[in-house]
Amino acid sequence: MKYCSQCGKLVALFIPTGDNRPRYVCSHCQTIHYQNPKIVAGCLPVYKELILLCKRAIEPRKSFWTLPAGFMELGETTLQAAQRETWEEALATVEQLELYTVFNLPHISQVYMIFRAQLKEPKFGSGEESYDVQLFNETDIPWQQLAFPTIEKTLQHYFVDRQSGSFPVRVEDITQSIKKR
Ligand SMILES: [Zn+2]
Repeated sequence: MKYCSQCGKLVALFIPTGDNRPRYVCSHCQTIHYQNPKIVAGCLPVYKELILLCKRAIEPRKSFWTLPAGFMELGETTLQAAQRETWEEALATVEQLELYTVFNLPHISQVYMIFRAQLKEPKFGSGEESYDVQLFNETDIPWQQLAFPTIEKTLQHYFVDRQSGSFPVRVEDITQSIKKR
């Protein structure tokens, strides 16, 4: 951050009085610009035995496969954000959302929240951010072309849990970015 979003003057990075970490503080209006992690909400859309995946048309990880997910917007709930992203990326309407995986990614200051969700009908298509959207059998999942470790881990858990029919919420930390494949 270089300029104050309140008044447009320069900001400086220092520890404000009474605080314990550096913040961007406006040299003019004294506004302290707190920066906090962002939440990424998404769905694991299920239709019968099949899983819906999207091929990304945008960076990062363009052309890799992902579950529909994206940054929450202001004024949304996490569940609404997950449904909206599923509509935007896969033109699919999902219901019966159940929180399934939560990933802390402190190195990039993000928190992922992925919901299991039911596709009522196999109706979907490529949204603006997707090259392709397809339903996959477990045996056809493109494991080597998945976009992010959060997606890979969610799918791994799902196929194990599906055998028992029990889907406990998983909370995990991912502390390093994966090596470029
Ligand atoms: Zn200012």
